Amino acid sequence: MSQPDPRGLGPGAVLGILGGGQLARMLALGAADLGVRAHIFAPEPDSPAYEVAARHTIGAYEDEAALASFADAVDVVTYEFENVPAATAAFLAARTPLHPGARALAVTQDRLTEKRFVAGLGLAVAPFEAVDSLADLEQAVARLGRPAVLKTRRFGYDGKGQIKIADGVDLAQAWDEIGHFPAILEGFVTFSREVSVVAARAADGSFAAFDVCENEHRDHILALTQVPARIGWAAADGAIEAARRIGEALSYVGVFAVEFFVVEDKTGEHVVVNEIAPRVHNSGHWTSEGAQTSQFHQHVRAVCGFPLGATARRGRVTMENLIGAQAQDWRALLAEPGAHLHLYGKREARPGRKMGHVTRILPEVG
Ligand code: AMP
Repeated sequence: MSQPDPRGLGPGAVLGILGGGQLARMLALGAADLGVRAHIFAPEPDSPAYEVAARHTIGAYEDEAALASFADAVDVVTYEFENVPAATAAFLAARTPLHPGARALAVTQDRLTEKRFVAGLGLAVAPFEAVDSLADLEQAVARLGRPAVLKTRRFGYDGKGQIKIADGVDLAQAWDEIGHFPAILEGFVTFSREVSVVAARAADGSFAAFDVCENEHRDHILALTQVPARIGWAAADGAIEAARRIGEALSYVGVFAVEFFVVEDKTGEHVVVNEIAPRVHNSGHWTSEGAQTSQFHQHVRAVCGFPLGATARRGRVTMENLIGAQAQDWRALLAEPGAHLHLYGKREARPGRKMGHVTRILPEVG
């Protein structure tokens, strides 16, 4: 078990956040609620988080002089995205506490490392093979069969960097499309639902999970989350236990999400780990109004070494993402009683861009 932060942070502390998107924005707002000041570090000249943070630094993640002054100005550093370069993480971790730590980043940045790590814990994952060449791909498809999913090992999100290898798909063409980058082939999982666990682990080893969420994707982007997930208690317990073991094995500090496929066979429902996100997660946005502690407050609590909050749910909850032009409905959503609208302050509504979300809480049934 790691020791609590010797600096004993409290209100007034400065939380450094790498990345300036909507997750950083909501983290900065959550930090402010707890009397913690956010300092954003991001390369973009204009980012949704800047306008709600106490301070921001515009700099490249490779700019050591800018990173060094950022590290000097904050008490602890966290991040809103998993593709923080390893060198940036190591540079900052040498100067100030970094939560979640470099190991969580290293494991989750690479789909192959992540799959091996999860399988090594004895948890179910899709069958997989490493693919570094067209010959590897041909062999992997021969072993795993079709359909299968070819994914780049790094920098994939929202379905980017992946191709379904269905019957008739030409392998040489698929390998070209993936850009000849190191990749992984996964056997296709025939799932009944997709669910996720958003959970927090503190430096003292305490663990708190929110209820299992059920997620619907459209065009590979999360469209709708509903809680509770429509799965039995055994599968829900299995998912939370898997998240607890993953958090423990990574000595994780902060909020993270584990996404699962739910598969059904004669013996019942089982969960298969799809991927781990070492950060607050879109499928946890419902917690802002739907749980006793929001995932953003929980993350700030965990990384600052404050006690974790209660995760109990406040009813049946739905969270709908507002993608692109959907955010134009803001006036009707504001007029809807009980709808909680969050807009991210992005100036341009491009197709596929997450512009905001709306959460609704309904009474429990029965
Ligand atoms: P990922 O980027 O790995 O989360 O994949 C995005 C989406 O593609 C998932 O949410 C699934 O809907 C689908 N998908 C990814 N991998 C598989 C798989 N091995 N079998 C079936 N569907 C998959």
